[in-house]
Amino acid sequence: MIDYSVLYQELESLGAGNWAQLLAEQLADAFDERGHGDLRKWREAVDELPNLKPSRVNLLDSVSIGQSTDVFGQEQQLIQGIQKLHPWRKGPYQLYGVDVDTEWRSDWKWDRLKSHIAPLRNRTVLDIGCGNGYHCWRMLGAGARLVIGIDPTLLSVMQFQAVRKLYAADAAVYLLPLGVEQLPTEMKLFDTVFSMGVLYHRRSPIDHLLELKGCLRPGGELVLETLVVEGGMDTLLFPESRYAQMRNVWFLPSCELLMRWMRRCGFKNIKLCDVAKTTVNEQRSTQWMRFNSLKDFLDPNNAELTCEGLPAPVRAIVVANTD
Ligand code: SAH
Repeated sequence: MIDYSVLYQELESLGAGNWAQLLAEQLADAFDERGHGDLRKWREAVDELPNLKPSRVNLLDSVSIGQSTDVFGQEQQLIQGIQKLHPWRKGPYQLYGVDVDTEWRSDWKWDRLKSHIAPLRNRTVLDIGCGNGYHCWRMLGAGARLVIGIDPTLLSVMQFQAVRKLYAADAAVYLLPLGVEQLPTEMKLFDTVFSMGVLYHRRSPIDHLLELKGCLRPGGELVLETLVVEGGMDTLLFPESRYAQMRNVWFLPSCELLMRWMRRCGFKNIKLCDVAKTTVNEQRSTQWMRFNSLKDFLDPNNAELTCEGLPAPVRAIVVANTD
């Protein structure tokens, strides 16, 4: 069982003791092996990783932990442990000289947003739908005092635990196996809240925006990243079924409509920071993610369209404040 006692103490000191109590129950449930057949296997993979001390760490420009010279004689044990947690979607990670080249170049997303957000130094940060926590490490590298990521996918949580074990047990970064709907409402706790790649998975995007607002302290900052479509104030794509092979995609607004949603939800200082088409260099199959990827989800004859004939993925980053 992962030890979250330091996190609970942190939450107490932030005045969020009630959340700590709720969490203890939710985590016991989420980590119950009877609920998830592969959990034991993933847990063993993390346990089998060698206990290493990194002689060098860089979280500012990448997520690089340790060097190959720190792992002498235990390379195979390290590589096998990481491989047992396949597929690795978010990254890349350099772990003691092992280059975990993930499906996504998540570092590119970070590069697109980092100059647009309030400096994270000493901030308390929540990353909703954080995947395996790649950006959480970058937030820590940018000086955040506490980073909490949540994601309901247990494999992602176990990948994070593997990286955390290879980093240091006392890192001020935690990943919780929760969906956003399991957070207490109106916590008003965090200085910065990230929601990246989540809004289009929510059946009720306006409620998601309000949930995000409720997590932020007054004057806090939301960093929102989501799929958008080209068009004006009244343009919205609502796919008949799949979008780029994904099953649970609901609303893809234009940038203008997205910002109108945010205004209606009461956000202030709403700024569109970046709009980028996702390329097959940013999302692709690799040795660490051997399943199909973006190129298989696009129309083979027209890269402007998904295989369903819908506009190919374009992502926007919007930053805004609460009052
Ligand atoms: N934020 C990361 C990962 C995006 S992928 C990035 O930008 O790279 C979307 C993630 O949202 C997945 O890991 C998925 O497990 C998570 N997710 C899906 N439904 C969610 C929910 N209800 N609450 C929180 N996260 C959710």
